[in-house]
Amino acid sequence: MSDRFAACRDVFAHLNVDRFATVSRRTLLRGLSASALTTTGSFFTRSLWGAPAFLANPFTLGVASGDPTPEGFVLWTKVAPNPLERGGGMPARPVEVKWAVSTRDNMQQVVREGTTVAHPELGHAVHVEVDQLEPERDYFYQFEIGGERSPVGRSRTLPPLGAPVRQVRIGQVGCQSYEDGFFTAYRGVADEQFDFVFHYGDYIYESRMGRSSSPRAAAGEVGEAFTLDDYRYRYSLYQLDPDLQAAHASAPFVVSFDDHEVSNDWAGFWNEAGALAEVFALRRAAAFQAWYEHMPVRKAQLPHGPDVQMYRRLVVGDLIAMNVLDTRQFRLPPACGGDYKRNCAEAFETRRTMLGETQEGWLYDGFKTTRHLWTMLAQQVPMMRIDVAPDPSRSILSMDMWDGATAARDRLFGAIEDSKTGNVIVLSGDIHSNWAGELKKDFFDERSATLGVEFIATSITTNGDGHDIKDNDRKRMAKQPYVKFFNNQRGYACHIVTPACWEVDFRVLDKVTVPGGRISTRMSLVVENGKSAIAQA
Ligand code: FE
Ligand code: CA
Repeated sequence: MSDRFAACRDVFAHLNVDRFATVSRRTLLRGLSASALTTTGSFFTRSLWGAPAFLANPFTLGVASGDPTPEGFVLWTKVAPNPLERGGGMPARPVEVKWAVSTRDNMQQVVREGTTVAHPELGHAVHVEVDQLEPERDYFYQFEIGGERSPVGRSRTLPPLGAPVRQVRIGQVGCQSYEDGFFTAYRGVADEQFDFVFHYGDYIYESRMGRSSSPRAAAGEVGEAFTLDDYRYRYSLYQLDPDLQAAHASAPFVVSFDDHEVSNDWAGFWNEAGALAEVFALRRAAAFQAWYEHMPVRKAQLPHGPDVQMYRRLVVGDLIAMNVLDTRQFRLPPACGGDYKRNCAEAFETRRTMLGETQEGWLYDGFKTTRHLWTMLAQQVPMMRIDVAPDPSRSILSMDMWDGATAARDRLFGAIEDSKTGNVIVLSGDIHSNWAGELKKDFFDERSATLGVEFIATSITTNGDGHDIKDNDRKRMAKQPYVKFFNNQRGYACHIVTPACWEVDFRVLDKVTVPGGRISTRMSLVVENGKSAIAQA
């Protein structure tokens, strides 16, 4: 374990997530005023489940928070006494859930509280948008229903808009195939006590699951997900995991989605199985509803049929403009039928897009109108050119990544250049390995301008244990000198952002196919303010 890793952990060592479990019921009830226990019931008198009672604690999927602002964040839970059952073991009636926010991890100083209704239409998911909190500080939260209390979670507000920020610590995670291994990496994420965590997608995998191939006995045999109940089952299975629950309870998440929340490599209304666009739209709607139900996102992210407003901007003081991008909903059908291809001319067509016209306009306007020290593009698939052929005489590129839409990448790089936006940091995932690379205006010309730096964080579990760099990886890196780091183990990335530097620690695990894998820091890299170059920390 490096000194930096130790320092990173010690900053918040006094906050131990495990301690959050013990909170007296009386404390929470004392915190909830009579007015909070409330009047909303009168609208539901015919159908409201008025006196809920449970045989066991119904907060089986844990708690989460997300999308922080200087004033608040979203609180999330789901009332599900039997989460793997259809309907979660709940009656098909709306029910009231109490919530409270405290400045103390024992919930003794309640500063905000209220009651909300969990609706059967949304699988009794609970989303509360808390506001009127103080900036840049820790808060703790808890839910209650029928005398049953949830675990206590920690969240954190962002610094005031435009204010100077000394340091922010951000986690980067994604690709968590349940059947590929244990979520030990999330235990590490929980220990970090991040300011917030960016999830680049593949929170679930929709594909068929077979017990025999999984190190997880609970994985079970289930077919590919198509319906709302299918998708709900996947989220429940994943969210029953104690390490994932600990990570959610440790810090607010800023979530996106990639392909496997819906269907492998989907693009707009194109899907691998070849269903008609109108038919795939029904699947997209089911998948997005399940995504919304299980994610700590705002009402602005409630799907409208097959559409959801996923791209959005978070601002961290004067330090970071964080653009969460949506690289799935607005694509055209993939070039040359998708997957990995040699010599695909369609990948160079000017009509190709990753973001769609509206989102491109929103992003490029943001480059011109928002001025922050760092501009983050928090997105899904690799942006740098990634030729996976080790052989120098040929190239194989993924049509599912930005390489499959080079004109879209050129437009983005042009907008960065035209707006003179410096200090661009791109966070990505999807490829189940760690990469750091410099985004060159011309990837074939080492002397061409570097327009940003990309950090691709490896998977939490997908592809199993993996390995460190091998000969073929070295051959690929030699062909692509803008790639400064590669590693093929599982884990997550830790970003420490200050006015002077953007540092990243790539945390890796020795094993994910058995519980209790060991976490270590494989590499620490740094980008200095104004440099657009990767150096070893
Ligand atoms: Fe993945
Ligand atoms: Ca993916």
